[in-house]
Amino acid sequence: MQAITTKELTFSYQGKTILENISFSVKRGETWAVIGRNGAGKSTLLKCLCGLLKPSSGNVFIDGNSVSKLKTRDIAKSTAYVPQGSGRLAPPFTVREYVLMARFPYRIFGSLPDENDKKRVDEALILTGTGHLSERIMGTLSAGEFQAALLAGAVAQDTPFLLLDEPTTYLDPCHQENVRLVIERIHACRHTAVITVTHDINFALSCHNNVLSLIDGKTGFCGSKESFCDHAAEHLSKVFSVKFGSAALSEDKILYFTRGVGL
Ligand code: ATP
Ligand code: MG
Repeated sequence: MQAITTKELTFSYQGKTILENISFSVKRGETWAVIGRNGAGKSTLLKCLCGLLKPSSGNVFIDGNSVSKLKTRDIAKSTAYVPQGSGRLAPPFTVREYVLMARFPYRIFGSLPDENDKKRVDEALILTGTGHLSERIMGTLSAGEFQAALLAGAVAQDTPFLLLDEPTTYLDPCHQENVRLVIERIHACRHTAVITVTHDINFALSCHNNVLSLIDGKTGFCGSKESFCDHAAEHLSKVFSVKFGSAALSEDKILYFTRGVGL
């Protein structure tokens, strides 16, 4: 079974522990939402999962292989990572050129893109609703358009695992809904495992089947959405130190909202 697994993952910056003893496993086909307060270590966790950061102790495995021993190209064939939007780079390429670059793990250095590469790029542009931006220079895009172009690149990379760090931050409600549909579609059509860091609790619980909450770099909750939702307000209050309430929208849809500070 394909999986990304962390075993007692601990990570420190300059001696300060940011992640402590995180053990969890994401299997192919699963969807996970990662939640936690600002600075809890969510982005750090995603960077450890794709080998951008090396654990101080413990380990991360992709399909049983230690990430630290895998070549960048092999990691990129299994894991696509869309970073948090802040401090964005503005590469001097069009959106189509940028998305095509995401095919690099499959191409021999210096070779021209083949028909499959072009097909994957077209699919990704359509799926993410970025076709109309394809000839625009990345640096001229709005924040939301830029975020959608990054997602298109990750979709074109066509990996079994997709790591998204706050993919809806700059998006209007319509484009947020589009990201939800992209996650649902690639999960359904390609059986992609998606791990999404988000502060939007309703987005987290609407299109992910599992939840990992981080509290000061430690695991708060790790398990199925169903067991999280059995005591959601309690879990959320513990994570964010804010009171939460909920309202049933339909039989299977519940809306979560904050009810004030002061726990
Ligand atoms: P947010 O919700 O604000 O994005 P986060 O949960 O993603 O927060 P991280 O970016 O993982 O948080 O950061 C975790 C902690 O590590 C924070 O206290 C942050 O200040 C610290 N940190 C992040 N990058 C560095 C760095 N390069 N050097 C030192 N400390 C860092
Ligand atoms: Mg972050």
